[in-house]
Amino acid sequence: MPRSAPPARRLSRRDFLGLAGMTAIAGALTCVGASLGYLVADDLSRPRRAPFPTQPPAALSAYAKQIDRPGILERRDWGAREPDHSAENESGFYGPDNREGWRVYEGDLRAVYRTVVVHHSVLYEIDDSTTMRAIQQQHLELRGWADIAYHFGVGRNGQVFAGRPLNVRGTHVAGFNTGSVGVVFLGDFSQDLPTPAQLEIGRRLIDWLTLRLELTHLAGHGDFNSDTDCPGQYLRVALSALAQSAGLALGTGGYLPDSA
Ligand SMILES: [Zn+2]
Repeated sequence: MPRSAPPARRLSRRDFLGLAGMTAIAGALTCVGASLGYLVADDLSRPRRAPFPTQPPAALSAYAKQIDRPGILERRDWGAREPDHSAENESGFYGPDNREGWRVYEGDLRAVYRTVVVHHSVLYEIDDSTTMRAIQQQHLELRGWADIAYHFGVGRNGQVFAGRPLNVRGTHVAGFNTGSVGVVFLGDFSQDLPTPAQLEIGRRLIDWLTLRLELTHLAGHGDFNSDTDCPGQYLRVALSALAQSAGLALGTGGYLPDSA
């Protein structure tokens, strides 16, 4: 009698923990085709797409990892301007009569944040720091916001940038800003691929934020606001791997309506 076929190989915890990052993310990117030049050989034997677990296994979550805060370039080091509290569309400070104002969250941020929302900048100029300054200028001068909309920038060279302070509400996802961390990957991913260094540091940032803030969900901007394709097709295909690395559910299901 022929022997029965061996059981399909399952991904072990070590697979996920040891090979998270570029391998997992590159795996998610395989669906965009063979044009990607940085798939690692090991990835070829892996399932093209790991099913997303209904309950993120604890062993896969950020909580189960030892996660160091990624190096973050502070505002003064990339030449950020000070917030402008006379800004037209985010003027003054939040209050019962000024719900669109600059909102500083009170108390423990773990009680505020549930979701990380991923964006692309579309705009890209010369290098990452220049791009951060250009984004902030656009948000201050064209959008009329008090500061850059996002809490973090993820550069093409693998550098994380501090954006709007984490204890201040962002302005990056219309109608869903309260309790949503804004992370922008620098580049236009409707046309270009994110760099491996960018995906890896972005993954580490989101893992760390998940642990720090006890997040539950990761979404792309377009999941909340259907009038945008942000973060672009070539970054959107990496979202499931980013979510899985941190043990986050993918989608908008974690959003808490603002009751304040
Ligand atoms: Zn966006």
